[in-house]
Amino acid sequence: MVKVVKFGGSSLASAEQFKKAGDIIRSEEDRKYVVPSAPGKRNDKDTKVTDLLYKCYDEAEQGKDYTETLNRIRERYDEIIKGLGLKLDLSGEFKTISENFKNKAGRQYAASRGEYLNGMIMADYLGFTFLDAAEVVLFDDDGNFLSEDTNTVLSRKLKDLDNVVMPGFYGATRDGVVKTFSRGGSDISGSILARAASADLYENWTDVSGFLVADPRVVKDPEVINIITYKELRELSYMGATVLHEDAIFPVRRSGIPINIRNTNKPDDPGTLIVENTCKSSDYTITGIAGKKGFVSVNIEKDMMNSEIGFGRRALEAFELSGINFEHVPSGIDTLSVIVHQPEFEGKEQQVLAALHRLTDPDSIDIDSDIALIAVVGRSMRANRGVAARIFAVLAHNNVNIKMIDQGSSELNIIIGVSNNDFETAIRAIYDIFVTSRL
Ligand code: ASP
Repeated sequence: MVKVVKFGGSSLASAEQFKKAGDIIRSEEDRKYVVPSAPGKRNDKDTKVTDLLYKCYDEAEQGKDYTETLNRIRERYDEIIKGLGLKLDLSGEFKTISENFKNKAGRQYAASRGEYLNGMIMADYLGFTFLDAAEVVLFDDDGNFLSEDTNTVLSRKLKDLDNVVMPGFYGATRDGVVKTFSRGGSDISGSILARAASADLYENWTDVSGFLVADPRVVKDPEVINIITYKELRELSYMGATVLHEDAIFPVRRSGIPINIRNTNKPDDPGTLIVENTCKSSDYTITGIAGKKGFVSVNIEKDMMNSEIGFGRRALEAFELSGINFEHVPSGIDTLSVIVHQPEFEGKEQQVLAALHRLTDPDSIDIDSDIALIAVVGRSMRANRGVAARIFAVLAHNNVNIKMIDQGSSELNIIIGVSNNDFETAIRAIYDIFVTSRL
């Protein structure tokens, strides 16, 4: 069996955390490929090395003195090296980094050094081969990740190597210009490596024991999801559940490699297994609940709308012209609502309304703001009757007014729109009925 293990920033924030990661890697020979993030926060008040690097580079670019910030970064690494009892000396690396900052090598180059240096330490600590991601993770000049080219180059490279540490978060163009993924992108690097290595499992080690059924800031001590499909995960991530970078599922999904989210601080917890498909039903009728505040519903009314061909297209065009993404479009016979992100809509509101008048000639347009959307997600919903009924009943009992309902045709989720003020009450009520009461 071959496993790729990725460790997040909090799992590598100090020598103590590094040791935990090292123990995990050494405890199974299968853990052959390692992807480290940059050192994260050691406590709530601490700053991630990636953020320090951005700050440092900005200072350098503005011609300010950046030595103090660079020294702070250096101290973070030196503390880890010392704590692990290693002989590694990063002086030469820091000299190069400082020069490159002076020569304005770019913000992405700057940010990537966090993972690069942590990778060097990890390789030294484990006695594994260091593989610079700039050689094997390829981007085009516009910063788009080249998945197929990368897979070819990386899998070829891995054939000659046994145990590898490849830093996460970055790669480079064919000309060697360093490019990064968006924040949290080391998750994607782990997934890329898992695909190229034809791994049996991609373990993603973090500081929580898996994906939770609901947001712990809303529901106290929510249960962990044992097993979840890629599709369910995508629905929940889209609605704000953040454990894994949204794009991290694509490389492994394509080759059917499961992802296991694990907790570095509680290595005995089984975590969450993310799979393409499973015959196992989830522990509860639903798999998870997630949601976001801050949506607007633009409700368009027009008599006989139902027989006017092209009405929907024209209504959506009014949003498209202002570059606004729509989230949902629930409709009635003479009404059509377009749900959009409030911050995106606010600045362009009058422009959109004018376009709607011009393109659809409505009887009236009404705007309902401060709406929260809640997604109740679960593969078992399809085979269960009364899921929607139970959600609506519990919301009614809790005095929550439902403003919008949308059930995807896959029956994988039910989306409910409620007032922002009812967001927490609604999520707790839904959690209670399906998880606590197991109805
Ligand atoms: N270090 C980068 C960040 O803070 C990437 C990562 O951790 O995945 O976003």
